[in-house]
Amino acid sequence: MTFPKRTHTCGELRPAHIGARVVLNGWVHALRSFGGVTFVDIRDRYGITQIVADESSPDHVRQVLGSLGTEYVVAIEGIVRRRENPNPRRATGEIEIVAESIVVLAQSELPPFEIAEHDEKPLASEELRLQYRYLDLRRPSLQRNFVLRSAVYQIAHRYFAEHGFVEVETPILMKSTPEGARDFLVPSRIHKGKFYALPQSPQLYKQILMVAGFDRYMQIAKCFRDEDLRADRQPEFTQIDLEMSFVTRDDVLELIEGFTATVWHEILGIAVERPFPRLSWRQALERYGSDKPDLRFGLELTDITAIVADTAFEVFRKAASDSGIVAALVAPGCAGYSRKQIDELAELAKKHGAGGLAWIKWTDGAVQSPIAKFLGDAVLDRIRQAIGARDGDLALIVAGEWERSLVALGALRTAIAHRLNLADSSTFRFAWIVDFPLLEWDGDQQRYVARHHPFTAPMEEDLPLLDRDPLSVRAQAYDLVCNGHEIGGGSIRIHRTDLQERMLELLGFSREHAHERFGFLLDALRYGAPPHGGIALGFDRWIMLLAGTDNIRDVIAFPKTTSGLSLMDGAPSEVSPEQLDELGIAIATDHRSGRATPESDSRTS
Ligand code: ASP
Repeated sequence: MTFPKRTHTCGELRPAHIGARVVLNGWVHALRSFGGVTFVDIRDRYGITQIVADESSPDHVRQVLGSLGTEYVVAIEGIVRRRENPNPRRATGEIEIVAESIVVLAQSELPPFEIAEHDEKPLASEELRLQYRYLDLRRPSLQRNFVLRSAVYQIAHRYFAEHGFVEVETPILMKSTPEGARDFLVPSRIHKGKFYALPQSPQLYKQILMVAGFDRYMQIAKCFRDEDLRADRQPEFTQIDLEMSFVTRDDVLELIEGFTATVWHEILGIAVERPFPRLSWRQALERYGSDKPDLRFGLELTDITAIVADTAFEVFRKAASDSGIVAALVAPGCAGYSRKQIDELAELAKKHGAGGLAWIKWTDGAVQSPIAKFLGDAVLDRIRQAIGARDGDLALIVAGEWERSLVALGALRTAIAHRLNLADSSTFRFAWIVDFPLLEWDGDQQRYVARHHPFTAPMEEDLPLLDRDPLSVRAQAYDLVCNGHEIGGGSIRIHRTDLQERMLELLGFSREHAHERFGFLLDALRYGAPPHGGIALGFDRWIMLLAGTDNIRDVIAFPKTTSGLSLMDGAPSEVSPEQLDELGIAIATDHRSGRATPESDSRTS
């Protein structure tokens, strides 16, 4: 098809172009007529430009105008002129084009929802928008996110290349990896009964690249984890993945701070403060009740165990005598909270593992608390002093096992900050969380599991504790956090076979099982592995922060729903009996009977 090709984009024209003859190509964003004058907004990735036609316009222009609908694709030729009523909210808002000819390049059916975004009008349901993702992606605010995402890819490639990194692709069809989630499996046709796993991360490959002498590796890698999804998770996601040889922790942290600062500077024009503060995992929990604390606000927690250990309140006494904790948080100015509001907070605390929630209010010099009689005035006053509560404040107190109680109180801290509007969305507070415990005890499986992954090196000075007291061994692991989100995590790795084997043994892998699963890594470590370490940055979360959205689906072009469906193309879908035969796979009948939900049928047809 030949068509009048654009001379400019729809975001380009300014008063300097007044008088010029131009051609624009784009989509009809909006149409409106007032007393014989018709306005058409046309849109492309670069912006929106207003076109006008009136009674004096050529006949064919008026005719075509009359036939247009929103989302038609058009070529418009005309003369740029100054707008009588400029629109300061649009970059092209000072000009408009008087149409001299219009060609329809493609018609559009009536879209199931409007592309134009109105401040006052809510968007169509997300299900509908995901089903028609190509229309949803036309929204300028979504397009901006992907242009931003693309810019960050470019910065990443450039920054790491400048720092000597080599980009290497690692396999998508691979052997199961050990990040601790469930694998997505791909059956092998040639080797019936065997499966590839999709990578949960390129962890083992990047370590092997270090053994292979690549020194510095990076990749913008797709990772796949078959977990129960939460609102901010996707079964496939992207990481900036890297690994470095002959480094210690500080080398990795410094490099990543530099990268973070570069991205924030180039994308948002913000100079981030460096070095990023470092908090040990213990401090992060004690002060903020989280291993990914939001540092945009204070609201620090206080350990009041010593003050309440000998009171008549049994819950506090027990927490103290069981080596647990009693910790408190001040909700400033919240003494006026109603019973219902406090009940909601108690629910939240319980959801995050607390046994219950105690509270104290100070109003007009009086103390109010359901546990006041157990504590007595002197203790109440010592608590007030310790936590720095003032008149009008509310104290929230959780008691019990150390980590669980702090985490529950941390959840309350976030909720209170949210209610008090303390977290400014244009501020970014980065920090490193370091000195994580190497292991945790998994009560369900009755064994130790690696907090990070089984290849993370213990701190040298804690090595003697590996046999005596494994849970107190700290890892050479680090997380990068920003505004309450973990946006990266990595570690210095074990590079000696004996220690790696010992670690796998501690994690309950028999020698045989360890070799069956990770034999290739254990073998590689035997042939001269350099000391090495690395990190993976959660790319999608980075883009969310930079774009200012809480919805991960706003930064992934073709995302899945929280139940793992792709509503546009209908994945996952059934496959033909022939395909299954070729793979040597039979579907158990009870699974088959669950298949025919009306939605999945209509989506896949
Ligand atoms: N492989 C780890 C992850 O995906 C990151 C790392 O240790 O480099 O979380």
